[in-house]
Amino acid sequence: MKAELLAKLLPSSCDMSSIRSKSNDSITSEDVLIKISYARLNNNELYYVLSKFLDDESSRGKMYYNLIEDLKPVFNNQESNELVSKYVQAGITESIIIKCPFCNGTGVLLFKTSVENCPHCKQGDFIYNNLIRSSFVGVKEKDFDKEKYRKVMEKLQDIEISALDKLGDV
Ligand SMILES: [Zn+2]
Repeated sequence: MKAELLAKLLPSSCDMSSIRSKSNDSITSEDVLIKISYARLNNNELYYVLSKFLDDESSRGKMYYNLIEDLKPVFNNQESNELVSKYVQAGITESIIIKCPFCNGTGVLLFKTSVENCPHCKQGDFIYNNLIRSSFVGVKEKDFDKEKYRKVMEKLQDIEISALDKLGDV
């Protein structure tokens, strides 16, 4: 488990001594799960935290299906399920995947004779733009509906803010 993700999951203001594992001083995933269990997260908040910070694929899938249902009214129920799902899938990816997949989050690409800054990210954080987003959705950039995408991202941000708030209060 990545230390920086744990640092995000566990706000610095919280007292770590009470959740420290007995065997050593490092924080284990069990410690994190205990903290999560006390935070009274709702389903989507729990799935969000588990998929973003603990790379849990099955939580990601459950959140995906919930969000498609939740967002249908936002899409005015006019759109095909398939299109709603694609926007939701793309939004979840942007919300959850921070690390650049091209350089593995290092920010540099290694070539035989040189090292170059990775053009796909900013110091390892993947750069999302509308071209990338539209390719995730599976449409041409000109057909990409920014307003719909914004609504998906807003929903995800609300879930993240609420989840981190509750975790911070534990
Ligand atoms: Zn990169």
